[in-house]
Amino acid sequence: MGKIAICPGSFDPITNGHLDIIKRGAKVFDKVYVAVLDNMSKQPLFNVEERKELIRAVTQDIPNVEVDSFHGLLMEYAESKNADAIIRGLRAISDFEYELQLTSMNRVLNDRIETFFIMTNNQYSFLSSSIVKEIAKYHGDISELVPSAVNEALKSRFPVNC
Ligand code: ADP
Repeated sequence: MGKIAICPGSFDPITNGHLDIIKRGAKVFDKVYVAVLDNMSKQPLFNVEERKELIRAVTQDIPNVEVDSFHGLLMEYAESKNADAIIRGLRAISDFEYELQLTSMNRVLNDRIETFFIMTNNQYSFLSSSIVKEIAKYHGDISELVPSAVNEALKSRFPVNC
């Protein structure tokens, strides 16, 4: 059987930075589940179904990618999918400390599943969902930062005449 990876995150919404990580992960693993974390404690702009729809729309040409969601512990979800690995993207040094903590904790919970980090493409090193939402709120141009389906969805969330 092929190698299975989970690419977890909030994806509120998916950006070109995420998409780059997903595409590169999908070249290495036989199957990649992009898994939207259903986290009640965060106040998302898009609900889980909307986030999944957007991810589906922009990954439809990658045959080994499947979009899903989960709540609770990532390692339990990964085990339920029989995953071999978790894929995370790494941007600046600031990501490192948080990811080290998260990965170390996940290893305590399950030491069979490895976490793999993919270094961000330089052009996306500053890019995050929150920055994209902030710019979109003030109707700035984000067409280079997100896929066009996401750009449209953000435009309708923040109409110019409001
Ligand atoms: P989380 O809330 O778990 O950080 P995100 O949706 O913000 O979820 O990010 C999911 C994953 O994608 C994380 O591993 C994050 O580091 C990575 N990521 C986000 N933006 C970028 C980017 N611009 N370049 C590379 N990786 C990124």
